[in-house]
Amino acid sequence: MSLEVSARSFPEKAHEALGRERLQKTLGYLRFGSAAGRRAVMARFPEFDTYRDLGKAIKDHTLAHLDTYMEMFLEKAAAAGAHVHWAADGAEARAIILDICRKRGTRTVTKSKSMVSEEIELAEHLSAHGIRAVETDLGEYIVQIRGERPSHIIGPAIHLTKEDVEETFRKVHDDLPPGRPLGTPVELISEARLKLRDDFLNADVGISGANFLIAETGTVVLVTNEGNAELTTGVPKTHIVLTGIEKLVPTLEDATALLRLLARCGTGQDLTAYTSFITGAARPGDADGPEETHIVLLDNGRSRMLRTEFEEMLRCIRCGACLNQCPVYTAVGGHAYGSVYPGPMGAVLTPMLASVDEAGHLPNASSFCGKCEEVCPMRIPLPRMMRHWREREFERGLAPPAMRSGLGLWRTLAGWPAAYRLALGLAARVLRGRGREGFIRTLPFIGAGWTEHRDMRAPEGGTFLAQWSARAGRERRP
Ligand code: SF4
Repeated sequence: MSLEVSARSFPEKAHEALGRERLQKTLGYLRFGSAAGRRAVMARFPEFDTYRDLGKAIKDHTLAHLDTYMEMFLEKAAAAGAHVHWAADGAEARAIILDICRKRGTRTVTKSKSMVSEEIELAEHLSAHGIRAVETDLGEYIVQIRGERPSHIIGPAIHLTKEDVEETFRKVHDDLPPGRPLGTPVELISEARLKLRDDFLNADVGISGANFLIAETGTVVLVTNEGNAELTTGVPKTHIVLTGIEKLVPTLEDATALLRLLARCGTGQDLTAYTSFITGAARPGDADGPEETHIVLLDNGRSRMLRTEFEEMLRCIRCGACLNQCPVYTAVGGHAYGSVYPGPMGAVLTPMLASVDEAGHLPNASSFCGKCEEVCPMRIPLPRMMRHWREREFERGLAPPAMRSGLGLWRTLAGWPAAYRLALGLAARVLRGRGREGFIRTLPFIGAGWTEHRDMRAPEGGTFLAQWSARAGRERRP
């Protein structure tokens, strides 16, 4: 199974999201809060660019020698007592995990947050086979009991207000006394803790993802802020790690360099509250830990990206910074994308993991402002890769007819410079005429979508070409 998406309905879902008042309120916090938060973090981390170069170099080197480091990881992880499994796609990964659970007579599984498990819809698969899969990250738990998918790769419930969460708990937690106050985040967290405690203690199997895999030691690195991953990986007798193959790094030192970037770009912390390094199962004499550890390495389309124009996407450390700064994501939220990977990183990754036929809308949902690339700690050229997808979409005849005819018209005009200048000058005059106090409130026809939810700046001064010619003329004058 490749990635299941419903990205074809992006335009309709985006339109609907723009009209949802509560969603716009929560996205407003992200729009205004994340830029300020980022500025504060960067002020405390002047070595950011040096670490970005280092992070890029580490990942590029690993991807260039993926086979070597993969073999090293397999050998070291096995030597530490872990059972390592290879899954070519989601169906294989789900079958492997279900088989492990069945052999242990599993009734309940606790899960810490893992986007890869969302990618293959693991919780749903286990539930369909009679195994309760309980999400233990607070955001994941909330969206799970609401029957939703995460809307952000770092903050799964970022689309919800605390009133939404209170309503959900009152509806779903049937043993909740009606008088119990749930008006504050602390009260909501306590309520979720109470519900999750028994599952933490009684789960037969714990499933986690991995933030990094260290080849030289066979170690799995996990970062969280809630401590739920530690209870998920340490309490049950069996621990299963489900992770993508791109999480590999050669050394412990490489992992710690990337951790410095991940925490700062993901949540604005210098370091996350919990950072766990897990090597194999519990050894004799260990105070706790699982008796058995399994690591399921998932490909699911990732190796297809190697040695292509999309290889650099495999550097992604899932920090979420590109989502937080994207004007499209922060206007429509994650659910509109119809993929577990939303925002700019999802616009590149989803067509690769699903197909451009299914997810062609996503790379088009970008203004190419370049902010995503500017903030990406791994220096991933996201706009360039979205442009590659647009080219492929165009070549395959998937671009909408209006876009194809618009581009055809533009190409004809561009071949006739005089006609091009005339048409541009005319268009600028018409737009200037529609402007009121510097803004255009509505545009007709194809432009109506642009002004439906925001105003457009009216053109000022001459066209770019006119200004360029005037400047060139001035520079030529002695
Ligand atoms: S593409 Fe870059 S900014 Fe976006 S999630 Fe990945 S690493 Fe973070």
